[in-house]
Amino acid sequence: MAQKRDYYEVLGVSKGASEDEIKKAYRKIAIKYHPDRNPGDKEAEEKFKEAAEAYDVLHDPQKRQQYDQFGFDGPMGGGFGGFGGASMNMDDIFSMFGDIFGGHGFGGFGGGARRTQQHRGSDLRLKVRLTLEEINQGVTKKFKVRKDVVCQHCHGTGAEDGSGREQCPTCHGSGVITHTTQSIFGMMQTQGVCPTCGGEGTIIKNKCHDCQGEGVVKGDEVVEIKIPAGVAEGMVVNVPGKGNAGRRNGINGDIQVFIEEEPNETFIRDGNDLIYNLLLDFPTAALGGEIEIPTIEGNKLRVKIENGTQPGKTLRLRGKGLPAVQGYGNGRGDLVVNISVYVPKTLSRDEKEAMMRFRESDNFKGDKHTKDTIFQRFKNYFN
Ligand SMILES: [Zn+2]
Ligand SMILES: [Zn+2]
Repeated sequence: MAQKRDYYEVLGVSKGASEDEIKKAYRKIAIKYHPDRNPGDKEAEEKFKEAAEAYDVLHDPQKRQQYDQFGFDGPMGGGFGGFGGASMNMDDIFSMFGDIFGGHGFGGFGGGARRTQQHRGSDLRLKVRLTLEEINQGVTKKFKVRKDVVCQHCHGTGAEDGSGREQCPTCHGSGVITHTTQSIFGMMQTQGVCPTCGGEGTIIKNKCHDCQGEGVVKGDEVVEIKIPAGVAEGMVVNVPGKGNAGRRNGINGDIQVFIEEEPNETFIRDGNDLIYNLLLDFPTAALGGEIEIPTIEGNKLRVKIENGTQPGKTLRLRGKGLPAVQGYGNGRGDLVVNISVYVPKTLSRDEKEAMMRFRESDNFKGDKHTKDTIFQRFKNYFN
């Protein structure tokens, strides 16, 4: 066997490297030389093992200190317990350092064997239509969903009567099959996932008759989903673990809930603001007074109207809009009141006579105030 390289040198870090630096360095090397990326490459495999051994010692403060002090032999020449370089088993590397790869092994490299991978159930998508009132409060909705559930007969193992698993006869437990072909460059080796066991290395001895060995069956489940306040049309609420069950006691998928918004008769939504179009009676617009504005909570707010209020004026009632959805801003939006003035369509004889007198008065001549009104609207626009 070749001379062993210094562990710090293997990982390419300094003697004083922090735990984090060591972890990062190892991760980089491990990804580069990962067998899934380098199928059949013996040199890559050796580098991968070498890095794993170095990491095993250097990320453990006690082992690291002993290595710094005694070198490869460890104290009393005992070595570093069981981690003997060439004799190291690949499965050990995966199980010991699974955490550094984010817990689920390597995603997306494809092609190679995945020894400890769990099956993940697929995600389910649901649509829910909410009223503005529900959006304002947040709401819990119940859905009856048809999905993959754990098979009760075999408790998700896929095996009949607890018969267990046995080594796959096709790949002899490796999960991989290797094809060797003769080419002009010599012998070429290519690897693929074993078709018999799907890369698992083992097969079920006696498949469960309810689920045919899948560990999941179709079933109905009522799921309660909490929709947070403030959601909007097009948002997706993800509910982890409520989707299809993973095959053979794997990981559950998620449920994604797509939000749809029902139009409201009273309010128009604008982000977290609510717009209310107020049709003000003509006398109150002229004389001033108090009116009631409805709120999304179902209450009424008393609001003062100044005398001489013009159509087109807006009032902004701070914090009376919709709440911001968690993590997307603070507080609540506003209730914006757009004022129009109602002009009577029918008049009694008295009213008509009164109106005709008003028309003679300078106070009622609109054209004298056109400029003011335009300016007022302009100001409101930027309010
Ligand atoms: Zn079953
Ligand atoms: Zn197999």
